[in-house]
Amino acid sequence: MTTDLATFAKDNGVKYFMVSFTDLFGGQRAKLVPAPAIAGMQEDGAGFAGFATWLDMTPAHPDMLAVPDPSSVIQLPWKPEVAWVASNCIMEGAPVAQAPRNVLQKLVDQAEAKGLYVKTGIEAEFFLLTPDGSEISDPYDTAEKPCYDQQAVMRRYDVIAEICDYMLELGWEAYQNDHEDANGQFEMNWAFDDAMRTADKHSFFKFMVKSVAEKHGLRATFMPKPVAGLTGNGCHAHISVWDETGTVNVFATDSGAGQVGEVGLSPDGGHFLGGIMKHASALAAITNPTVNSYKRINAPRTVSGATWAPNTVTWTGNNRTHMVRVPGPGRFELRLPDGAVNPYLLQAVIIAAGLSGLEAKADPGPRHDINMYEEGHTVTNAPKLPLNLLDALRAFDTDAGLKSAMGDAFSAAFLKLKRQEWDSYTAHFSQWEKDNTLDV
Ligand code: ADP
Ligand code: MG
Ligand code: MG
Ligand code: MG
Ligand code: MG
Repeated sequence: MTTDLATFAKDNGVKYFMVSFTDLFGGQRAKLVPAPAIAGMQEDGAGFAGFATWLDMTPAHPDMLAVPDPSSVIQLPWKPEVAWVASNCIMEGAPVAQAPRNVLQKLVDQAEAKGLYVKTGIEAEFFLLTPDGSEISDPYDTAEKPCYDQQAVMRRYDVIAEICDYMLELGWEAYQNDHEDANGQFEMNWAFDDAMRTADKHSFFKFMVKSVAEKHGLRATFMPKPVAGLTGNGCHAHISVWDETGTVNVFATDSGAGQVGEVGLSPDGGHFLGGIMKHASALAAITNPTVNSYKRINAPRTVSGATWAPNTVTWTGNNRTHMVRVPGPGRFELRLPDGAVNPYLLQAVIIAAGLSGLEAKADPGPRHDINMYEEGHTVTNAPKLPLNLLDALRAFDTDAGLKSAMGDAFSAAFLKLKRQEWDSYTAHFSQWEKDNTLDV
């Protein structure tokens, strides 16, 4: 593991470091620091004016310093003279409480104090569009059911294989790539890891996919619902919890005794899941953080026949129509998050809700085995997910437990900025209003 960035530069021929941090809206911000200056920056951090990013600061705030975490450094496979390094935001000697990587670090530390190590894998779907973002880049990609289309995935082989080769080089254990359920949509999978590592990889993956797509004259988007009527970009998270040796999955049980829902989840796995179920409507503000997010969940049937996104707080075994799927013993899949999710806040809110569930010995409720797309209306005792961003923000605001688990300073800053975003959206005068109101 890299501990000294100056040595890393020397050993690997790195000329510049991207000292990078992620703001509340998931934007990645960086300074390009030349290698001869990196030793000082590793010590003191690179200076930023926090107000210029989405961190809820004013122009009067002192300098914010992004201090690189050398263990996260990644040499850009497509431009090896540059290395990306995730950084922690500090102000006047203290961590910036609302900075997403700090929010996650605090929750990872809380889990660790209980001897729990959360490991996750994510599936960050994306579309490849024309450079101006207006159309799917492949004009022949028009099938009604395009999922796993081998002809279409090969027409984008140059982009997909380049990204996958890079993941292999980086040791991410990439294992499959496919054309997904919407025209122009792809998914690439790599192995699960510690929550913080997965968050860093998730950030870097988005940067890498966008960069490689641009190199090929395309535009990659992780927008939750970039094309009306087609399946949206999910970002499913698979979750398991391990002991300090990293060899015992504390979610797994192979025997009948104490098994939750007969699906190989241990009682603690059930409580962790119970926390996710209990806080689902509130945590949607984090996992589905944009106006557009709510066109993916709660969506009408898409061209392919299914949305693959939930609208109700239910869980199940190996059945992809619910919010949570337990695909096999010892882990579960949260299918709620979308491509707009902040990589650090995603992991943070999973741990926050899960730990609160463990603490309260929360009951995940009954397992549902129905096809939610056909029979969802028969489930009357499960909450519906928020219908729009405002609903989600209100649900988050009224969930005092989740807000304090995420950190009060973070929660206040997040709600403030996201409410501003909602207000900006509602202030937008739309053609729909005119079409539907002109003749009242
Ligand atoms: P699917 O499309 O069936 O939901 P994928 O293969 O696309 O599944 O993604 C599965 C993800 O789950 C991968 O990132 C994988 O590494 C991760 N995963 C597998 N086992 C575990 C586990 N025990 N804990 C956490 N993540 C896991
Ligand atoms: Mg300046
Ligand atoms: Mg998948
Ligand atoms: Mg998928
Ligand atoms: Mg999945």
